[in-house]
Amino acid sequence: MSQRYARAERLTGLSPYLFAEIDRMKQEALKKGMDLISLGIGDPDLPTPPHIVKRLQEAAANSKHHQYPSYEGMREFRGAAANWYQKRFGVVLDPETEVLSLIGSKEGIGHLPLAFIDPGDIVLIPDPGYPVYQAGTVFSGGVPFDLPLLKENGFLPDLEAIPADVQTRARILWLNYPNNPTAAVAPFEFFARAVAFAREHHLILAHDLAYSEIAYDGYLPGSLLAVPGAKEVAIEFHSLSKTYNMTGWRIGFAVGNAEILGGLGRIKTNLDSGVFQAVQEAGIEALTGPQDCVEEMRKVYQERRDVLVDGLLRLGYAVEKPKASFYVWIGVPKGFTSTEFTAHLLSKAGIVTTPGVGFGKHGEGYIRAALTVDVSRIKEAVDRLRKL
Ligand SMILES: *Cc1c(COP(=O)(O)O)cnc(C)c1O
Repeated sequence: MSQRYARAERLTGLSPYLFAEIDRMKQEALKKGMDLISLGIGDPDLPTPPHIVKRLQEAAANSKHHQYPSYEGMREFRGAAANWYQKRFGVVLDPETEVLSLIGSKEGIGHLPLAFIDPGDIVLIPDPGYPVYQAGTVFSGGVPFDLPLLKENGFLPDLEAIPADVQTRARILWLNYPNNPTAAVAPFEFFARAVAFAREHHLILAHDLAYSEIAYDGYLPGSLLAVPGAKEVAIEFHSLSKTYNMTGWRIGFAVGNAEILGGLGRIKTNLDSGVFQAVQEAGIEALTGPQDCVEEMRKVYQERRDVLVDGLLRLGYAVEKPKASFYVWIGVPKGFTSTEFTAHLLSKAGIVTTPGVGFGKHGEGYIRAALTVDVSRIKEAVDRLRKL
């Protein structure tokens, strides 16, 4: 089909956004009248806790919030984020220079390369991984270099295996633990090795910590910034989306090295005008208010995890019980590719999952299931799998 407006190369170079593709398959199944169990997208089904909603309602009526917010975020929001970091991770941050508010962490993750990547610069990206690391790299003219996350390495990248010339040209290294999509977690020693690597090769270490609060069996994920010296090379992205069921609100923040945050802030002041202050007030409420909602949420996901993984293990699937995140990374049975198996589950059992290969070529051989439906539906999914 001829197009009047040819798209820029930076768009044609991207693979179609994965979830758009799944949505299309879903719509087809729905049109046929199928009852779908959606384990496809990592969007919490639980509502935002009521005390946070109430704070927004009050703040929205306050006319001082009706004007443009400050670019870097309200001082009180940045202070709340810094206090939360100190309490939760033992990491001390200066709210003036080491915290930056974001319109959801995806926004900051996508924009970071614009501040530091020139055409031809290499960005080291986990494969499989959250697609935004790659998109931000391509939009800035950078060259993604995939770091395979392999089961035999605990889904951690082998930094020593990166070729010397790539190490020299690399400017950013992305990490994400607890990991989406593999649900892997990283030991503190790995973070320490990554910091040493970043210092040696003068690159920016960018850690995506969206799932720090979603962990099970007493395990509590740590911050990469807790590594001594990390703040000289690292920036960490945090999101309220998953911790407080606030994906629709669009609020997150970045913390760490002031110079790196300053670069990202410079891009943002030229593109957006910050987060609606009433939403920042709700964010303050989330970070400083009662935290039992987080414990409740963990219990809900843990029960779902146990029902799904125990069920899968009984059926002979290659799967491990995740220590963190709300994902289950499932080995695909012999004879299927990850895409074929996703299509098979959708058309034969009405179960929506995500093909591992949609997160990068090393995701082949896996599908991802998100624990974002009620436990009764997960039981139903296991039942359907048994009959398959
Ligand atoms: C959900 C998610 C995010 C971010 O979410 P925002 O809603 O933009 O804050 C970031 N990274 C990963 C890996 C995620 O899964």
